[in-house]
Amino acid sequence: MDRLRFGTAGIPICTNGDTLKGIETVRKLKLDSMELEFVRSINISKEKAPLVKQTAQRNDVILTCHCPYFINLNSDEKKKYYASIGYIKNSAIITSLCGGYSVCFHAGYYQKEDPERVYEKIKEGIKTIVKEVKDFDDKIWIRPEISGKKSQFGDLKEVIKLSQEIEQVMPCIDFSHLFARSVGKNNTYEEFSEILKDIEKELGKNALNEMHIHVAGIEYTDKGEKNHLRLEESKFNYKDLLKALKEFKCKGVVTCESPNIESDAILLQKAYNSF
Ligand SMILES: [Zn+2]
Repeated sequence: MDRLRFGTAGIPICTNGDTLKGIETVRKLKLDSMELEFVRSINISKEKAPLVKQTAQRNDVILTCHCPYFINLNSDEKKKYYASIGYIKNSAIITSLCGGYSVCFHAGYYQKEDPERVYEKIKEGIKTIVKEVKDFDDKIWIRPEISGKKSQFGDLKEVIKLSQEIEQVMPCIDFSHLFARSVGKNNTYEEFSEILKDIEKELGKNALNEMHIHVAGIEYTDKGEKNHLRLEESKFNYKDLLKALKEFKCKGVVTCESPNIESDAILLQKAYNSF
């Protein structure tokens, strides 16, 4: 990626209209990326995707996607497991047709099972997905995301290890989730720097040049994530995070998932440019 780009998780709230209008609005707001929210359904058709791609390219807006929420690659129910694989695969194919860069998802739940066993099962699922997506597009990143709740699979170590062991996989680093699942840790310049150092050490410099990051204001309990907030209402230390991202010359996409998506994305971009 050419630089660190800031954008919205979904069509900006001020937009009247669809994905195409959303992309144009992102550009008008001087933001540089937009996440296609397939969280409830994959709501762009194969037929419409080329127009989305054209609009994104014309406006120099990078597209990413967030897969459906109802995914569990650790489900004991065969039907749910294979449906989860299908949701991620289909999200990746549509995003690829839209010219997108990266596809993120919450991989599943521990369901009180041994985390190592869960890791192996989820790894097999992601391998199956990558094998199928690869034939279609061998450039698009498949990204398990750091989850916000302790009951959800996906801490920093797990998503790094998956990225080491499966090609075309990189982590989606949700710094607000990491903060929430560690119940208030991972919130200082030193801690952010350690995380970035770790990513570079384990996955190479390219991982810092090709980042997919999520940031939002967030509230948590002792179980982790409770809900998203505006950045200014949250204790999440986004300023020190941005300083660390600048210091490490990170590139890629920072998607803002606060409830006020575009105003917090602009806040992040302005703060980043001020350092
Ligand atoms: Zn997410």
